[in-house]
Amino acid sequence: MTALGPVKYLTIHCAATPEGRHVSAEQITAWDKAKFGMTSYHWVIELDGSMHRTLRDDQLGAHVGSHNSGNIGICYVGGMDKAMKAPKDTRTDAQKKSLLTLIRTYKGRYPGIVIRGHRDWPKVNKACPSFDVAAWLKGVGE
Ligand SMILES: [Zn+2]
Repeated sequence: MTALGPVKYLTIHCAATPEGRHVSAEQITAWDKAKFGMTSYHWVIELDGSMHRTLRDDQLGAHVGSHNSGNIGICYVGGMDKAMKAPKDTRTDAQKKSLLTLIRTYKGRYPGIVIRGHRDWPKVNKACPSFDVAAWLKGVGE
């Protein structure tokens, strides 16, 4: 038994940053630490598709209200339009590719893992991650 508990879920998030603006994984982690006193996600995917591990899988994240145990959090940089007025799927092709790489890795490592977007959790009144995770996965054959 680890702090995280058996891995059962993988939740996808956006950083709610404007389309096309580079924000580093380090910066996102610093914001989370300032706001919540801890690192929220296990991975952050930057605009160029680079994947940054921000927590180990055996560490508890802080990304879905009271559903963090056994839940891996992946956050992509972006998720808002340029004007910061509306949620938008701003994933670059490189980010989509990396997201899929991570999803496939976790599916291989933890058979039966449930993959959803933040907004797919009950009682979440957010647009995060600004796209329909199930529809996207179906579209790419996952
Ligand atoms: Zn989220």
